[in-house]
Amino acid sequence: MRYYVLDRGDQHSMDLSQQFHRLAQEKNFKLDAESPEIVVSIGGDGTMLHAFHTFIDRLSDIAFVGVHTGHLGFYADWRADELEELIHLMSQSGSEGPLKPRIVKYPLIELEIHKKSGNASFIALNEFTLKGVDGTVVAQVDINDVTFEMFRGDGICVSTPSGTTAYNKALGGAMVHPTIEALQLTEIASINNRVYRTLGSPLLLPKHHHCDIFSRKDQRLLLTVDHLNFPVDDLISVRCQVSSHKVSFARYRPFPFWDRVRIAFLN
Ligand code: NAP
Repeated sequence: MRYYVLDRGDQHSMDLSQQFHRLAQEKNFKLDAESPEIVVSIGGDGTMLHAFHTFIDRLSDIAFVGVHTGHLGFYADWRADELEELIHLMSQSGSEGPLKPRIVKYPLIELEIHKKSGNASFIALNEFTLKGVDGTVVAQVDINDVTFEMFRGDGICVSTPSGTTAYNKALGGAMVHPTIEALQLTEIASINNRVYRTLGSPLLLPKHHHCDIFSRKDQRLLLTVDHLNFPVDDLISVRCQVSSHKVSFARYRPFPFWDRVRIAFLN
């Protein structure tokens, strides 16, 4: 079993990371920063975002596992005191082990950013946002190459299904089960009056649809992809669609999505 561990950097997470290495050594796991089969994130959902972007070029070869050292996370669903059990199950299910973990695959969003100074592409695990830095954002939203609306307001958020429990939720978006291959577009404080109008409701686009957001004035914007921030002052457009890539999580025991939603937000 080739593994790698990323931790949040706080003392508790770093201690747990050391404990993981000790236990892993006893099971003859091989620490491999270049080509791990399993990447263990120790901290919170934010730590998993870092782990995801660290191994973004190897998504098809890696399964992620999350341990939380704070509250239950959506990507980080193992408790700190369950580390031994986790390692035991991992050792049973390595390439030579008798068991295989269930691999669940979650949809991602693909972004193509077009700027006057060049183009860039990204993949998001949670969401992409476009926000104004010093004033109202003016942006045209097209769906499948047809103009849908002219947006004025603080910004726009485009979420993956697993990201719907994060920023999207704070914007009034629906929570979407990650087996549904879709992206959700939510508005951040749109201006709606007799002159300016947007739909005002979150939109769910299926896998085969795409949406383009065109910058419609000279404006300083902040683009975010998960925890990453990019100030941009020459944006032309951003194309958002469900990615052809998925992220894999190794499930060594069942933990249904709706249980995580209930425990995280209600219990
Ligand atoms: P952060 O400020 O440390 O994280 C914000 C919170 O979002 C943390 O409590 C984090 O959980 C939680 N989170 C991350 N992914 C989640 C998910 N899929 N479902 C539920 N909660 C989730 O910032 P960060 O660590 O750089 O993370 C960036 C993320 O923060 C963004 O992707 C965005 O979704 C989220 N965010 C949320 C809001 C909001 O809700 N108003 C505003 C801005 C950004 P942990 O404590 O377990 O790490």
